[in-house]
Amino acid sequence: MTKARYFEIGVDCLEIIAVLLALLLAVYVSIWAGLLLLGVLLLGLVSLICNYDAWIVRRLSTLENPLILPLCRTGFVGRHRRMLRLLPSEPRCRFCMVPFGGLGKVFGIRPSPPNPNYCRSCFEALPTTTHELKVGVLFADLRGFTSWSETHTSSAAADLVSRFYARANRVLTSDDALVDFIGDQVMAIYLVDMPSLGARTADIMVAATRRLIQAEGKVTESLPVGVGIHMGKAQVGSLATGGSKNFTAIGDVVNTAARLQSAAKANEILISETVYDALSEKKPQADRTTLELKGKAELLTAFILR
Ligand SMILES: [Zn+2]
Repeated sequence: MTKARYFEIGVDCLEIIAVLLALLLAVYVSIWAGLLLLGVLLLGLVSLICNYDAWIVRRLSTLENPLILPLCRTGFVGRHRRMLRLLPSEPRCRFCMVPFGGLGKVFGIRPSPPNPNYCRSCFEALPTTTHELKVGVLFADLRGFTSWSETHTSSAAADLVSRFYARANRVLTSDDALVDFIGDQVMAIYLVDMPSLGARTADIMVAATRRLIQAEGKVTESLPVGVGIHMGKAQVGSLATGGSKNFTAIGDVVNTAARLQSAAKANEILISETVYDALSEKKPQADRTTLELKGKAELLTAFILR
C-alpha cells in the first residue's frame, strides 16, 4: 500500500468521527431544547390554570351556596392550606395561604385587585352574604402597647406590631384558623365544621394560644400578650358585597371574645365557660372568675388558664 492510500483511510476515519460527534452534539442539544420547551409549556399551563380558575370559581359559587363553605366542610381547604403554607414566600392569600411572592409569582398567582388580602380565586369564592356557623373566636393583643408607643417612635411601634402579626399568623394558621388583623389585635376564626378542628376546636385554640405566648416570650423586643377565647354560633361571611368583599365573623361570640381579651392581664388566657366545657376530659388548671364585661348586662363566667 502506498502512503497516499494510508492518507485516504485516515481522512475517512476523521470524517466518520466528525459525523458521529456532530450527531452526538445534535442529540444533546435536542434533549436540552426539548426539556426547556417542556418546562416553558408546563409553566404556561400552570399560569393559565392559575389565571383562569378565578373565572371557573365565579361560576361555581352561588349566593345560597358559596363554594368556600362546602370546601371547608370536606377538608379540601384545610389540606390545601397545609400544603401551600410550605411554599415560600410572604405575602400570602389569607384564605388558602398560596404565596404571592416566590413560586407563586413564577406561576402567575396574583392578589385579587378588589381585596389584595386574598388570591383571585378565593375572592371569587368568598360568600357575598353571611351564613350562621359554629365558630371559635380568639382575640390576642399586645398588652401595654399604647403606653409603650408613647415612649417610642411610630416606626418602632409599626415594626413591633408587624413582627407580632407575622408570629401570630405563623402560629395560628398552622391550625387552619382564618386570621385577621385589627389595630394591634389579632383575631382568629376557627370554623368548627372543618374536619381538622371539629370537637377538638377548644383544645386546639388553647394550645395555639400557649404557643403564641411562648413565641412572644422568646423575643426580646416584644410585649406580653393578652388572649380571650369564646365559642358559639356567629354570622360568617361577607357583610359588604362587590369591592369590599371580606371573610369575617359577626355576632355576640365575637364581641364576647374581644371583651374577654381586653379583660385578660399580661400573658393571661381568659376563656369563656363554653370553651372550658368544650375542652377535652383532661381540663387544664384554671381559676374560675366572674367578669362584668363592658356593654354586657349579665356577669360572665370565665376561666383564667395558667
Ligand atoms: Zn386564596
